[in-house]
Amino acid sequence: MSFKPISEIGEFGLIERLSAIAAPTLKNTPGLLEGIGDDCAVYRTGGPSLQVATTDLLVEQVHFDLLTTPMHHLGSKSIAVNVSDVCAMNALPEYALVSIAVPGNLSVEMVEQLYAGMAHAAARYGVAIAGGDTSSSPSGLTISVTMTGQTSEERLTLRSGAQPGEMICVSGRLGGSAAGLKLLQRERTIMLELLRNNEPYDKDVMAELREYSEAIRCHLLPEARIDMVRFFNETGVVPTSMIDISDGLTSDLRHICRRSRVGAHIEEGRIPVLTEARAVADEFQDDALTWALSGGEDYQLLFTLPKAVYEKVSANREISVIGEILPEEEGLLLTDIFGMTIDLEQSAGGFDHFGR
Ligand code: ADP
Ligand code: MG
Repeated sequence: MSFKPISEIGEFGLIERLSAIAAPTLKNTPGLLEGIGDDCAVYRTGGPSLQVATTDLLVEQVHFDLLTTPMHHLGSKSIAVNVSDVCAMNALPEYALVSIAVPGNLSVEMVEQLYAGMAHAAARYGVAIAGGDTSSSPSGLTISVTMTGQTSEERLTLRSGAQPGEMICVSGRLGGSAAGLKLLQRERTIMLELLRNNEPYDKDVMAELREYSEAIRCHLLPEARIDMVRFFNETGVVPTSMIDISDGLTSDLRHICRRSRVGAHIEEGRIPVLTEARAVADEFQDDALTWALSGGEDYQLLFTLPKAVYEKVSANREISVIGEILPEEEGLLLTDIFGMTIDLEQSAGGFDHFGR
């Protein structure tokens, strides 16, 4: 038997192989409408509504650093990222199961803070925390949240329904989370350096963090766009496809394209980049557009709509039309502000856990 490093196939390559092994378990499950491959699994439970279920893992040193992450925020984020996947199905969340593996050096008060954050977010999104599991951990804090939600046959929105000619839309602003992460990483380096030299923490740096509070908030306390699901319900607009932006616009648009068997064209000038992210990018001599395209963790919704419903959504300032769905053979294209068109399939983009 030969051994292949996981980095050779990447996160999505690994998921593909695991789905193939799990495939036999999906036979004879007529109630399951969607298995592996969308933001949530979707199944019937007998009644008129459809259930959705998702799970997300937050691992210390992979997803968060306790030096720069308040426990309360972390708890809130662990709920929000699951609500975000539920919203991506055009569903509303219902129950959560919360599992934690806790290292011995955390205090009771810290774990309580984590839970207070979860409870706060859960109340805000109308989620009931109905159970979970608790273990010790030999290496770092791990949080796993599983969430269910409800939608209907008419409202259910998969990644796979986009059609050529439809508008590509995104909610809110992008790039904020990556900008916040940059600031916090710099902060961490400074903090560790000061600690090493036994020097006091510099107030100027703190002031700068406050100046960029929106970007930092985007990273530490992302909000799931449940308001968009409510907007769709109120207006009767049903997106033809939808995904939440967890890996980055390019990567998540690629998921819609693959599942819908379509291509896409987006325009740089129409991508809503958070103003503060531009300011942070200037300071780091980095590029806010790159953060918006591949930074990830913005937890906005990316969806497609037929042009006929444009009137119904155009007044909503939270929705930006950024491009158009194309036939599959045209690929995934981005036109920059100078009118140059590049093929995004050729460029890297999106976060891969195994660093392909
Ligand atoms: P998201 O970013 O929306 O949470 P992921 O990229 O994590 O989605 O996962 C993509 C799809 O693969 C989802 O349908 C998810 O349920 C499935 N998936 C991920 N990891 C596993 C696994 N270990 N076993 C089975 N399915 C998985
Ligand atoms: Mg998702």
